[in-house]
Amino acid sequence: MSDFRCLRRVLLAALFGLLTGTVSAADLRIGVLAWLDASEAEIQWAPFVAALQAQLPQHRLIARHMDLGQMSEAIGRGELDFVVTNPGHYVALEARHGITRIATQVSVSERNPAHVVGSAVVVLAGRQELQTLQDLKGRSLAAVSPDAFGGYQIVWAELKRLGVDPEAGDVEPKFTGFPMFRVLETVAAGQADAGVVRACLLEQLERQGSVPAGRFRVLSAQASADDCRISSARYPGWAFAATRTTPPELSREVLFALLSLPPDSDGQSWSVPADYHPVHQMLRELEIGPYAFLRETAWESLARRYWPGVAILFGLLIVWLLYTVRVEHLVHRRTRELSSALQERERLELRVRTHQQQMDHLSRLSILGELAGTLAHELNQPLAAIGNYARSLIRRQARGNLSPEAVHQAAEEIAQESERAAGILAGIRSFARKRAHVRESCQPVALVREAVALFAGILPQVPALQLDDRLPADAGAVRVDPRQIQQVLLNLLKNACDAQRDAGIEAPIVIALSAVDGRCRIEVIDRGPGLGPEQQAQLFEAFFTTKPEGLGLGLSICKTIVEAHGGTLEAVPNQPGPGLSFRFSLSWQDNPVISPDSAP
Ligand code: ADP
Repeated sequence: MSDFRCLRRVLLAALFGLLTGTVSAADLRIGVLAWLDASEAEIQWAPFVAALQAQLPQHRLIARHMDLGQMSEAIGRGELDFVVTNPGHYVALEARHGITRIATQVSVSERNPAHVVGSAVVVLAGRQELQTLQDLKGRSLAAVSPDAFGGYQIVWAELKRLGVDPEAGDVEPKFTGFPMFRVLETVAAGQADAGVVRACLLEQLERQGSVPAGRFRVLSAQASADDCRISSARYPGWAFAATRTTPPELSREVLFALLSLPPDSDGQSWSVPADYHPVHQMLRELEIGPYAFLRETAWESLARRYWPGVAILFGLLIVWLLYTVRVEHLVHRRTRELSSALQERERLELRVRTHQQQMDHLSRLSILGELAGTLAHELNQPLAAIGNYARSLIRRQARGNLSPEAVHQAAEEIAQESERAAGILAGIRSFARKRAHVRESCQPVALVREAVALFAGILPQVPALQLDDRLPADAGAVRVDPRQIQQVLLNLLKNACDAQRDAGIEAPIVIALSAVDGRCRIEVIDRGPGLGPEQQAQLFEAFFTTKPEGLGLGLSICKTIVEAHGGTLEAVPNQPGPGLSFRFSLSWQDNPVISPDSAP
C-alpha cells in the first residue's frame, strides 16, 4: 500500500515537472532559523521537512539549522537555496542578500498571513496595579533575547510607541534565554514584574496543564480570532524565502509543494507571501536590523560610505602631522645651533675687545716708556728749582737777611714749580690709566691743545708745534673717547718728532684742523724724510718698525682707534715735500656715524 502511495507521488511530481519543465533531481538546501540549539530545532522542524520532502521526491532536501549570523554567512557563500526564518530576520536578509519570500506561515485560526505573529505581556494574576503596558514604566520585564522578534522586539516597539522606552531606561529588561518557558518562571519567581511570550504560548501551556489556568494575566489584552490573549499588534508570520541564486522554476516548484502541505500538528501551514511592510516600519522605529544605520551619526555614516576617501584623508593628515613635527624639530635644532653660534661670536668679540683694550694700554705704556728718560729730565727742572729756592732761603736766614718778602717770593716760586711737576704727573697718570672706552662730547681744538700740552710737558726739546685751526666758528663738538684721540695724536706727534730729529730737520710740526665732507679732519704734518712706497704699504701693519727700539704697534693701534670712531687713518706724502701728513676725520656730534664702538 505504502509503495503504491510513494509511486503515486513520484508520478505526480513527474507530471508537475513535465508541466513546469524544470524538474531535476538535485539537492535542495534549506536553512532553518534555530532559536534553540540546532538539535532541538531539528526535532521541532523534522515533521515539516519530512512533509516537504514527501512533496518533492525528485529532490533531496538538506535542512540545516542555524542561528541568525550563520544563516547570513551561508547565504553569502551561496550555500543555501531557501531559508525559513522569522519576520524580523527575513526583512534583514532581504535588505542584505536580496532574498525573496515565496510563502508565509499561517495558523488554522488566523488564515491572514499578515496577522500571524504577536506577543503577550504576562504578569502574575494578583498584580492588580499592572493592567496596561503603560503600567510597566519603572518595572522590570523578562524576555528571551533582545534579538527575538515575537519574544521581545514586538513588545519593545509597542512600549516605545506608548512613550515607555526600555532603551531610555523606562523599563528594565531581563533576558532569560530560551526556551520561552523560562520567562514565565522568572515572572512566577517574582524576579521580574512582567514577561514577554509569543501569542498563544500561555494558552497552549494552560491547555497542556504545564501552567495553572488563571495564574498569569495578560496586559492590554486584545481579543483575537484564535482565542489567544495578545498585547501587541500582529505581524506577518515566518517567511519561506528563495535566495538570489535560486532558479525561479525551482521556487515555483517548492511554492507548489508548500501550498499543498496540510496544517501540521500545531495547526501551522503555508500561504501566499504576506506584505512585510509593517515589519520594516517596526524595525525602522526601533532602529535595528537593516535600519541600525539610523543610529549612526552623520559623521559615522559618511565615514562608512566614503571610507577609502576618509582613509586617504586620514593618511594625508598623519603625513602632514609627521611633516610638521619634523619641521618643528628641525627649526628648534637650527635655532639652538644659531643661538650657540651667536653666543660664541659674542664671546669672541668680547675677547677681541678685551685684547684691544689691553693693547691700547700697552701702547700707552710703551709711549710713556719711550718718553721716560725725557720725562725724568723734565721733572728734574721743577725739582731743581724747588731745591734752589729752599737752599737760598736757608742761606739768607744764616746771613740774617731773610726778609718776609723774600720768604713770600720763594714760597710762591716753590708752589708754582711743584704745581707744574704735579700737572705733568697728573696728565701722565690719566693718560696711562687703564679704563673702558667712553664717548664724550669734545671741542676738537681743545682736544688737540690738551694733547699738545701733554706732549710738550713730557718732551723737553720739542720742535715748535703749530696749531692751524681752519674750522668755522660754529663748528660744534665731536663725540669721541678723548683719551683715545689723545693717544692717536701723541703717537703721530712723537713719530713726526722722531722723523724730523733723525733727519736733523728743525721745522715746526703743524697740527691742522679743518671741516671736510661734513666731518672734522685732523692732520699732523711733518717735514721729515717720509717713506718709500714699499715701507708706506706696510705702515699700518702691526710690528712694522724702522726704529731700533721701536715696537711697531703705535700706528696699527691708532688705525683701530680711528676706525672705531667711524673714520679712517691715512698717510700721504706732502705736496710739495718733504715729509708726511697723517690725517683722520671724526664725525660731528649732531651727525654721528654709527661705529662698532658706539653701536648699542
Ligand atoms: P714705532 O714708532 O714703534 O716704530 P709705529 O707704528 O708708530 O711704531 O711706526 C711704525 C713705523 O712707521 C716707524 O718705525 C717709522 O718707520 C714709520 N713712520 C711713522 N711715522 C712716520 C713719519 N712721520 N715719517 C716717516 N716715517 C714714519
